[in-house]
Amino acid sequence: MMVLVINAGSSSLKYQLIDISQQKLLAKGMCERIGFEDSIHTYSKADGFREETVLALHNQVESIDAMLKMLTDPEKGVISSMNEIKAIGHRIVHGGEAFNQSMLIDNEVLEVLRQCIDLAPIHNPANIMGIEACRQEMPDIPMVGVFDTAFHQTMEPKAFIYAIPYEMYKKHGIRKYGFHGTSHKYVMKRAAAMLGRPVEELKLVSCHLGNGASICAIEYGKSIDTSMGFTPLSGLAMGTRSGTIDPALISFIMDKEGMTIEETNTYLNRKSGVLGISGISSDFRDLLKASGNGNVRAKLAIDVFAYRVKKYVAEYIGIMNGVDAIIFTAGIGENNSLVRKLVTDNMDYAGIKCDPAKNISDTGKEMDISTDDSPVKILVIPTNEEMEIALEVERVLTENKTTQRA
Ligand code: ADP
Repeated sequence: MMVLVINAGSSSLKYQLIDISQQKLLAKGMCERIGFEDSIHTYSKADGFREETVLALHNQVESIDAMLKMLTDPEKGVISSMNEIKAIGHRIVHGGEAFNQSMLIDNEVLEVLRQCIDLAPIHNPANIMGIEACRQEMPDIPMVGVFDTAFHQTMEPKAFIYAIPYEMYKKHGIRKYGFHGTSHKYVMKRAAAMLGRPVEELKLVSCHLGNGASICAIEYGKSIDTSMGFTPLSGLAMGTRSGTIDPALISFIMDKEGMTIEETNTYLNRKSGVLGISGISSDFRDLLKASGNGNVRAKLAIDVFAYRVKKYVAEYIGIMNGVDAIIFTAGIGENNSLVRKLVTDNMDYAGIKCDPAKNISDTGKEMDISTDDSPVKILVIPTNEEMEIALEVERVLTENKTTQRA
């Protein structure tokens, strides 16, 4: 079954066509600078073919058209007609409390999604636009929404309630939601496969360390706590995001620097994190290079990043009363052996022992980097959010058919 996975942003649209019966990627692409006269459509196939086209894509509908034209092109395409696509999976950032699992998209679901816009004012409108564009261009193909927040809906109130007056939760939905759920879920399942044990038996700490970064405590297949919160700004220090800071700092900085609310938001979301500490870059490759050349602030940025990851790992082992495996995933987690070393060093008290000979960078493969006698396994697992979305689409459609028959 061919599943098209769509990730629609405010000025971009990423897509992947996946043959889910073989769990194989056939083609993928990205439309960028949507709304400009010189938009860019990048397209590539599993066989290595790649093409970049500059064209005017005024909106999501025109981007979907460009995508379909490429996918069905007699020479460059991978399918002969749009009818070969059996379902579409949409990545949706925020499902609020309304969605604790992936949903078949109908008018009712779309309406609830619109009600969640307040919670993700930048991302959700773009996701909705992507859904509407697909509906217009491919009206007969079923669509499933897969939410970044859904996996964390299993958290108990003691984990998701902030210690501010309870009315704020009731009035404005202020609580911890958590993000990166699709990635945490995917690597959880891969970890279980690597360990040869069912998820229902496992305690895992999943470290999704990319430009945006979050950690998740997964007990017996369920997220019980995670480092991001009401928004993806809290928790770890990230590429450009501050992560958790003393909340009193916000009014302090606004007062001292004469910043508006919007400027402070930008400051914490785009100018902070390892970029803010180092003053050099948000990219870990640049930081590693600079630190290697003796740059003290680049080294400090890496140290702050890894120290926070380590603290969350220890905290989550604490609340779960143990752990079977620590998972490292996303750009930094998958590729950066130094961060993995800094996080796992001196954790033998918890049965975590990293083998330096196995902890190598840039393999692009699933690896167990713990010593043979380490009671806790340390797993490096490349994440694949699109594959997880396609798997969810297949699951939802199958369950839906079964319910309809019953
Ligand atoms: P996002 O999807 O949130 O934009 P990614 O998961 O792509 O982020 O991760 C981006 C981060 O991964 C960057 O800091 C980048 O430097 C880091 N990264 C990617 N490849 C490597 C590598 N080979 N060595 C070290 N860091 C890497």
